[in-house]
Amino acid sequence: MSHYDVVVIGSGAGGGTLVHRLAPSGKRILLLERGDWLTREPQNWLAESVFVDGRYVSADKWYDAAGKDLEPEVHYFVGGATKMYGAALYRLRVEDFGELQHHDGVSPAWPISYEEMEPYYTQAERLYQVHGARGEDPTEPPTSEPYPFPAVSHEPRIQQLADDLAAAGYRPFHAPCGVMLNEGDMPHSACVRCQNCDGFPCLVQAKSDAETIAVRPALAHENVTMLTNATAVELKTNPGGTAVTAVLVERDGEREEISADIIVASCGAANSAKLLLASASEAHPSGLANGSDQVGRNYMFHNSQAVLALSKDPNPTIFQKTLGLNDFYLAGEEFPYPLGNIQMVGKSQAPMFRGEKPMETKLAPEWTLERIAEHAVDFWLSTEDLPRPENRVTLAADGSIELSYTYSNEEPKKQLYGKLRSMLGEIGMHSGHLLPHHAYLKNEIPVAGVAHQAGTCRFGTDPATSVLDTNCRAHELDNLYVVDTSFFPSIGAVNPALTAMANALRVGDHLLGRLRG
Ligand SMILES: Cc1cc2nc3c(=O)[nH]c(=O)nc-3n(C[C@H](O)[C@H](O)[C@H](O)COP(=O)(O)OP(=O)(O)OC[C@H]3O[C@@H](n4cnc5c(N)ncnc54)[C@H](O)[C@@H]3O)c2cc1C
Ligand code: SF4
Repeated sequence: MSHYDVVVIGSGAGGGTLVHRLAPSGKRILLLERGDWLTREPQNWLAESVFVDGRYVSADKWYDAAGKDLEPEVHYFVGGATKMYGAALYRLRVEDFGELQHHDGVSPAWPISYEEMEPYYTQAERLYQVHGARGEDPTEPPTSEPYPFPAVSHEPRIQQLADDLAAAGYRPFHAPCGVMLNEGDMPHSACVRCQNCDGFPCLVQAKSDAETIAVRPALAHENVTMLTNATAVELKTNPGGTAVTAVLVERDGEREEISADIIVASCGAANSAKLLLASASEAHPSGLANGSDQVGRNYMFHNSQAVLALSKDPNPTIFQKTLGLNDFYLAGEEFPYPLGNIQMVGKSQAPMFRGEKPMETKLAPEWTLERIAEHAVDFWLSTEDLPRPENRVTLAADGSIELSYTYSNEEPKKQLYGKLRSMLGEIGMHSGHLLPHHAYLKNEIPVAGVAHQAGTCRFGTDPATSVLDTNCRAHELDNLYVVDTSFFPSIGAVNPALTAMANALRVGDHLLGRLRG
């Protein structure tokens, strides 16, 4: 059996970033990834291949609470979900770290403060080359450094939108973007500012995803090894169940055990819960680290809406994800509870609408799909969903993931939609048209949109109500850590990846201390 100092399972935002931090230590590190390298090919940038044919979506089958098949929007590649992500790299707000009263209940406090996370947010912004502008977002938390790169500029139609919003009394800001764009020197810019970023893999590897930023550089260290197409199927413990001794790995139809001093699960929130639950033993009869029956519970994924408005003037924007609006993020005078975040998604393209008959019939015959795409201005609305014990990952009879989920905060979600709808006239859009955008969010099977999954192994100080301690180590096992978005006790209403990255750096520092002995 081969032995390593550290085995990290999953190479996405959490696992990839952690390995990048541990790599210079010289310790023997193994990264296990169930997917393969994502091939660079023309289809990377073809809307039809990516959004209609689902070329990069895994064939994994999950089940919903009723036992019905679910085709989750998951992508198993080196770099994990970040290969496809929109690279909007937000910090959580200071308020998200405290207890926050919502319409449907309380969003619980985190066991660490924003101040403890702040240095790691700064490091993660540097590592992932985040472009942004401080001082514009009214909910921005205090920061110790400016963004490492200037904000990505708005294209004219989005600048107009920013101006119209400001004129109407709102405070739009430049969204934080993880793209390797050098607008001052485009001949040498890695990013070419294309229309195929959000939801697509980057053909020229200029998106700050975990493969490009973290995994590839980590593999340049000879003490770091990665196995692709290697799925961790079970974690084995010593007879007392106090430590993990080996990972059972399935690769090319063969199974082998790999041992390590420290094991880190970072398979994404649903898959890390699955791995722990599938590792039940005599010492851990309900699943590993699950003496408190918390593993798999409190699943969250944002109460999101992808919508498009129709601009009176054409919207020829190429890279649209440059604007955000947090005026409704916290409770306000009109509505006493937080509503959420509004940001742009990638510009819609006509092929994305293929098969979306409801929209076609609603506006036909005056509006063809091409004309809709030409005028579309695309928004992403996120309302926080609350951690609820009954929203959970369990194992189906065949060992697959079963996802039970009931929505929370539907009222603020509705209000946020209403806010945007009410603004349309002021911001140069046709009033009354705010349409669902199925390409980004499968509105007909909402729980399959698992892009922002989080919360199945939350961290905390009380082993009765949490799975991990504040270092993201399992309360019940000395050498088991979880660093994907599973650890979130609440999800806030901004995108989760930067928080997973920052936390991986934080846990990385803890592990470096532990490895030094
Ligand atoms: C289309 C899309 C757009 C998004 N846009 C944004 C955005 O703009 N901003 C943002 O902040 N977030 C965005 N996200 C979400 C963001 O990508 C995730 O929050 C983030 O990647 C989660 O990190 P993670 O480490 O928890 O999981 P992942 O990044 O998903 O990594 C998990 C890894 O584990 C591997 N794995 C799973 N099971 C096993 C196993 N048993 N054995 C071995 N390996 C395993 C997977 O293949 C994967 O590589 C987006 C996601 C998608 C899909
Ligand atoms: S906008 Fe830049 S980073 Fe995004 S896919 Fe295009 S080239 Fe890559």
